Amino acid sequence: MRIPSVNEVKERLSRLYPGYPLSYFTEPARRVTNFIREKWQKGELKELTEECLLNYIKQVFEDYEKPSLQRVINATGVVIHTNLGRAPLAEKAIEEIVKVAKFYSNLEFNLEEGKRGSRYVHVEEILKEITGAEGAIVVNNNASAVLISLNTLAFGKEVIVSRGELVEIGGSFRIPEVMKWAGCILREVGTTNKTHLYDYEKAINENTGLLLKVHKSNFAIVGFTKEVSSEELVVLGRKYNLPVMEDLGSGCLIDLSKYGYPKEPTVKEILAAGVDIVTFSGDKLLGGPQAGIILGKKDLIEKIRKNPLNRALRIDKLTLAGLEVTLRLYRDENLAREYIPTLKMILTPKEQLKKEAIKLANRLKKLGLEGFQFKVLESSGKTGGGSLPLLDLPSFVVGVYSEKVSPQRLQEFLRKNQPPIITRIEEDFLVIDPRCLFKQDYPEILKAFKRLKDGV
Ligand SMILES: *Cc1c(COP(=O)(O)O)cnc(C)c1O
Repeated sequence: MRIPSVNEVKERLSRLYPGYPLSYFTEPARRVTNFIREKWQKGELKELTEECLLNYIKQVFEDYEKPSLQRVINATGVVIHTNLGRAPLAEKAIEEIVKVAKFYSNLEFNLEEGKRGSRYVHVEEILKEITGAEGAIVVNNNASAVLISLNTLAFGKEVIVSRGELVEIGGSFRIPEVMKWAGCILREVGTTNKTHLYDYEKAINENTGLLLKVHKSNFAIVGFTKEVSSEELVVLGRKYNLPVMEDLGSGCLIDLSKYGYPKEPTVKEILAAGVDIVTFSGDKLLGGPQAGIILGKKDLIEKIRKNPLNRALRIDKLTLAGLEVTLRLYRDENLAREYIPTLKMILTPKEQLKKEAIKLANRLKKLGLEGFQFKVLESSGKTGGGSLPLLDLPSFVVGVYSEKVSPQRLQEFLRKNQPPIITRIEEDFLVIDPRCLFKQDYPEILKAFKRLKDGV
């Protein structure tokens, strides 16, 4: 068998994909010839027909061109899925990001006075307006927010935290580690299940710098428990003239208990309780881009702004553009619920999910896949992303049963689809949860299953 030369493949590539300089094809052409050679050496290829060669060229080149970071379809039912990019953004936020990305902006330019300005002003006023905070600043993510706040408020000092709140958020973000890198000394109090106000009080000494409360984002301690409320900590803080900080993780801006979910204090309520510094993520429950939001007392925020770490943890202009618009939607709760995808997904009524599941199941059945069954089942999704821990979101899903293919094999097939479809497995069947699906996702799911029929 004759393996085509790199130059020959280059020529073919440049005819197939006009608009690139010929030199661009050297690397992909080399990959094509290697691909063919390997197939031939393994005995998988006896004869290279013209059609076959064309297919290989297209396959290898399209793979070469595909960005590593790409869109996937989230059929898991987990809304704020950390591995799948957390929050999809509101349309209006995306429009603003595109504008700021494409053109110049007043990022650090005061248009009123024609002088240098601050990048933080773009979100400061709106954050104060919707939360009632005295001061506000934003950094790269919530991990940075916690780090810089601890470093500013309690460098070289002891920070008192309940043992029940020494959380690991994932990766290497553990409260004890962050404390160390912020230059603070961790002072744990209480026990895993119970911490009383007197535990904090007994630990206070002349080297105490801060009282810290951390939201238990991804777990819950149930049963015989006692945790000190923000209000109680504030009273204690005032008594000893110590600042109180709360890392909320997700940070609810609207009261979800109105919609039948368990009560989580909103950011506004926590600030109103007198907590001096509150931190939370931009891309968890808030539904914006990755950012760390720090709210609280004006003088403390000012100190954080001046901390040299702030430059290292600085928020980017695209984030600012998306965040500002997302925050503005919170001026009215109905707007937020309508236009912020994560909120909308979390608050989708079960009945509507049932309709979507039935529609999808019917369309899948119509494909006539032999040996497959599509059933609408009651199930539950999750908010994910360390928000409302352990909370189940009641939903209806499509259960896919197959006599021929195991759910694991099917899951892999869908994951390797273009675009990848990420699903979950329950017992012995595959689940497609409509909660996080966009309108554009449905035809892709149908196409993928259709491919299955064509015997891939
Ligand atoms: C998620 C979380 C963090 C980290 O936030 P990122 O936005 O991922 O940096 C910190 N603390 C708590 C309690 C969290 O839930």
